[in-house]
Amino acid sequence: MTSPNLVVVGSVAYDSIETDAQAQKDVLGGSATYFSLASRVLAPTGIVAVIGDDFKAEHKSLLANRGVDLAGLETAPGETFRWGGRYDSELKDRETLFTLLNVFADFSPKMPAGYRNAPYVFLANFDPELQLEVLNQCTGPRFVACDTMNFWIQGKLEPLLQLLPRIDALFLNDTEAYELTGQRNLLLAARWIQDHGTPIAVIKKGEHGAVIITRDDIVVVPAFLLPDVSDPTGAGDSFAGGMVGALARLDDTSPDALRLAAAVGTITASYCVQEFGPGRLASLDLAAIQERLATYWDRIHTPAKEL
Ligand code: AMP
Repeated sequence: MTSPNLVVVGSVAYDSIETDAQAQKDVLGGSATYFSLASRVLAPTGIVAVIGDDFKAEHKSLLANRGVDLAGLETAPGETFRWGGRYDSELKDRETLFTLLNVFADFSPKMPAGYRNAPYVFLANFDPELQLEVLNQCTGPRFVACDTMNFWIQGKLEPLLQLLPRIDALFLNDTEAYELTGQRNLLLAARWIQDHGTPIAVIKKGEHGAVIITRDDIVVVPAFLLPDVSDPTGAGDSFAGGMVGALARLDDTSPDALRLAAAVGTITASYCVQEFGPGRLASLDLAAIQERLATYWDRIHTPAKEL
C-alpha cells in the first residue's frame, strides 16, 4: 500500500439524526468519515481514528472500497462513538441530543509509520492536547489544518493556544471565532488568530458559505444554493475535506490554490447535504465536482470589471 499524502485524524461515529422530514439511528458518521469521503476523490487519504467492536464490516468496506486507507483505524473493545442531533425546521440550527464518547474517550491517536511523513494533515475536532500529540508524531508536514469547537475553546484554551503557531490553517465557525478571539468582526478575529501564529483563518458561516482570510488576501465563497437540502450533518467536515483535498491534489498552497480549494470545499459540502448521512459523498467522483464547479463559477462571475 502506498502512503497517503493526506491524513485525517478525527472521529468515526454512529449518528442519530432527526429532521422534520425523517429520523435515522446509527447512521455512519464522524468527522474523519465525512472528511475522508470528500478528500479521497481528490487525493489519497488515510484515517487515524478509533472504532468499537460493534462497528459494522460493511461500513469498513464502504470506506476501503472508496480508496480510504484504514491502516490508522484502530478497533478497541467497547462501543463506537455515538452522537445524536436534531435540526430545526429550516435545517439551520442544530441541537446536540447526546454525545456518548464510548471508545473515543480513551482515543490516543497513533500515526502508522507510513503516515508520519504525509505532507498534508487535517486534525478534525478533538482534544487539542491530542492534536498536539499527533503533530509530535509527524515529520515535517507541508500543510497542517485544524478544526476546533467551543467545548475546547472553553475547556482547553492553553493547549489550543500552543497549537496555533504549529498549524497553517484553523477552521472554525463564526460563533467559535468570536468565542476564541473576543472579536465579532471576522477580519479582526482572523487578525487575532494570525497574531497567535496561524496564517490562514477559515471561518465557516453555514448556509452563507465561508471566508478564508490570510494576511494578504480575503476570499469569500458563497454556499452553492440547492433546492433539496436534506441533512447538514458533516457539511463542515466535507467542506474541509474538499478544500484540503484540493490543496493536496494541486500540491500547492499559494493564494490562487487556496481560492480554488475553497470553491472545491463549497462543492463537496453541497453534495454532502443533499442526502441523509454520507451517502452522496460515498458515490462522489471527480467529474461531479468539476461539473458543479463550472456552474459555481457562472454563479459567482461578474463579467464587467468596471462600473
Ligand atoms: P459537522 O456537521 O461538520 O459539524 O460534523 C458532524 C459530525 O461530527 C457527526 O458525524 C458527528 O459524529 C461528529 N461529532 C459530533 N460531535 C463530536 C465530538 N464532540 N467529537 C468528535 N466528533 C463529533
